[in-house]
Amino acid sequence: MRLSRWILGVMWIHIVCSSVVGQEVRPVVGTPPPPYFPTQPVAGVTTLKQGDPWLQRPAIDYRVPPYARYLAGLKICLDPGHGGYGKRPNYKSGPTGLREAKVNLRVANQLKEWLLGVGVTVFMTRNGDYDLAADLRTALKLRAEMANKNDCDLFISLHHNASPRPEANFPSAWYHATPDHLYSNVDLGRYIVQELEEIQRYVEIQHMGLYSDYLMFPRAGFGVLRHLRVPGIIIEASFHSNAEEEARLKDPKYNKREAWAYFLGIAKYVAVGLPRYELAEPTDGKLTPTGTLKLRLHDGMHVGWGSKGSPRIFSDSIAVFLNGTRVPVSYDSKAGVVSFTPTTALRPGAYTVVARFFNANKNSSLVKPIIVTVEETGGM
Ligand SMILES: [Zn+2]
Repeated sequence: MRLSRWILGVMWIHIVCSSVVGQEVRPVVGTPPPPYFPTQPVAGVTTLKQGDPWLQRPAIDYRVPPYARYLAGLKICLDPGHGGYGKRPNYKSGPTGLREAKVNLRVANQLKEWLLGVGVTVFMTRNGDYDLAADLRTALKLRAEMANKNDCDLFISLHHNASPRPEANFPSAWYHATPDHLYSNVDLGRYIVQELEEIQRYVEIQHMGLYSDYLMFPRAGFGVLRHLRVPGIIIEASFHSNAEEEARLKDPKYNKREAWAYFLGIAKYVAVGLPRYELAEPTDGKLTPTGTLKLRLHDGMHVGWGSKGSPRIFSDSIAVFLNGTRVPVSYDSKAGVVSFTPTTALRPGAYTVVARFFNANKNSSLVKPIIVTVEETGGM
């Protein structure tokens, strides 16, 4: 206490002195140096060679970092991909028969333990070799429904990839449709892929590896993501079709490394704040045809220095949508309230309201649609 008071005193003296004698003590003035140019060409950016020092995986300190505490209270749905076909020969298997479904579950189980340990409620779409329905389409829908019904904050589908190119091995994150669909999906995917690249040290580097599922299924995307109504992604952590990677994936210690990359990626993503919004007016969700709709925006950033007062939000990033159509809004940055007043009367019916914006840490809002209804008449 005494030390902190002393530090504050010194700060105060510094500020006061600066303002009092600032005109007398002039700073030394100079000019910036000319530009510095690269001393050698940057080589091997996209593909590293076996034996490159980067590929030596550092030992991991599995102590949970302090910033992981911000995960407490979240609901996360983990979806270990596939399951139910353990007896079908060669189904999603590596060169020597390692089944993807098995590895996905091992990684998810380890990740679950760390998430539980920091106060996350974890939903698992499976915890054994089974699927949720005999029909694949239904099963994928049910996996997404599990996250939807439980109002999960995040959904993460864990997979391993396969390619006819045997050397292929890199992580990728798959978001539904376009980056516009849900900005938060891209945020989450980027954080996890960054950690996978750092911790797993793949030979191939795919420039952050964020992809649209429309690349695989144009205008439809992956079944599980298509039905998802909460933020979520599919991560293909590595390629089980790569013989060297398959050998590593057999080792539970290697699976643990992978789970740790997921855990740190999720924790770092959440630590910079998950912006959210709520309906401020009308409080009962019943809007008159020309009434004003107000949303209160929260930056999601954590309590501390600078957290009191106005939310830290990029005001130009705010976009509000009614039934998918962007509407003009005004923003009271002090109160953190965004308002929409229709210029022509809204037709009676239900409207889905969605708000998108970035907090000061560049995390985008978790989109949770709010339903308001417009009544037949405008009041009493
Ligand atoms: Zn898969």
